[in-house]
Amino acid sequence: MFTFDRIRAYHVRFPMTKPFRISVGEIREKECLLLECTAGGITGWGEAAVDAVPFYTAETVGSALDVSQRLFASLAKSQQWKDPWELADAFAEYHGNYFAKAAFDTAFWDIYGKAQGKSVAEILGGTRKRVEVGGGSIGIHDDLGQLVDAVAEKLDSGIRRIKIKIGPGHDTECIKAVRAQFPDIALMVDANNAYTPHDFDRIASWDDYELLMLEQPLDEDDLYYHSLLCQRVETPICMDESIKNLHLADCAVKMGAMDIVNIKVGRVAGLSNAKRIHDYLQSYDIPVWIGSRLGTGIGVAMRVAAASLPNCTYPADIGFSAAYLPEEITETAFGLEDGCYFTVPYNTPGLGVEVIPKLLDKYLVAEYEL
Ligand code: MG
Repeated sequence: MFTFDRIRAYHVRFPMTKPFRISVGEIREKECLLLECTAGGITGWGEAAVDAVPFYTAETVGSALDVSQRLFASLAKSQQWKDPWELADAFAEYHGNYFAKAAFDTAFWDIYGKAQGKSVAEILGGTRKRVEVGGGSIGIHDDLGQLVDAVAEKLDSGIRRIKIKIGPGHDTECIKAVRAQFPDIALMVDANNAYTPHDFDRIASWDDYELLMLEQPLDEDDLYYHSLLCQRVETPICMDESIKNLHLADCAVKMGAMDIVNIKVGRVAGLSNAKRIHDYLQSYDIPVWIGSRLGTGIGVAMRVAAASLPNCTYPADIGFSAAYLPEEITETAFGLEDGCYFTVPYNTPGLGVEVIPKLLDKYLVAEYEL
């Protein structure tokens, strides 16, 4: 049994080496909230991969900190827990706040693995020795030449699957320009909710470009119109923002609203639910891949563990922070090999990541005892 003795939260802020732009806006600084939890003398780390403002998700650093202070920390400390699954079920009694929950869940998995002397990947049932990464997203560019150059840079680094962000005004021409230059690459696009049912003709025209998949074309709450779009287009539709929990995954499967799912571990409240959703989709032969958010090596470690699972059949976006952040503040038991693979750290107990204190201090905005 596990009792949380101490929980500390760290608000960190990194200057970005270049802006990151998607259909909903642009960020120039990266903030997030890290959790350091101790149970029985063992320390584990978790990350709420949110931003200072609602960007990819409605949650923010402020909301994650607030709900952690008011509720989740005291709930976590309120009793002994058998395992992270039990804590995830207790958190599920409360609506939303998935990224905040994920920070606790991930820290608990780190502790749980270290206590058993086993890697989190092994406990979850990972089968892959190493996982291929797609190198993260290429943000929206106004200049098509710069976009093509950014794709070329990724390919030169060894990445084999390319993902570009699109949105109204930055779509067909962008896809066309990249395809013209690189006719044979595995190319996918991500719209981050940007389109409506009025755009179906335009979206259908992208079938000509043989995309690997189209990610989250419509609003995240719009399962019904995603199901109609799936019938209309040949390009496989991947859901990201829509799949926040197992129930929504179930609804989307039953409605035929997607062909593929990008599981972001933070968006589904952590590794416990990521594993449940992975297993459920596997039972319906719906392939998944693990998505990423800008952040620290803690998030990278949790994604490597998740991406080791057998139904993660497309390249993952394990981490793309190196392209945007000045430095990594963690030491990890794994690294990028051959340009596009992370070896799963089965021989390292826990997540295989440790925070470097002096680098945490360097980017620290504030710390809190919860
Ligand atoms: Mg996405």
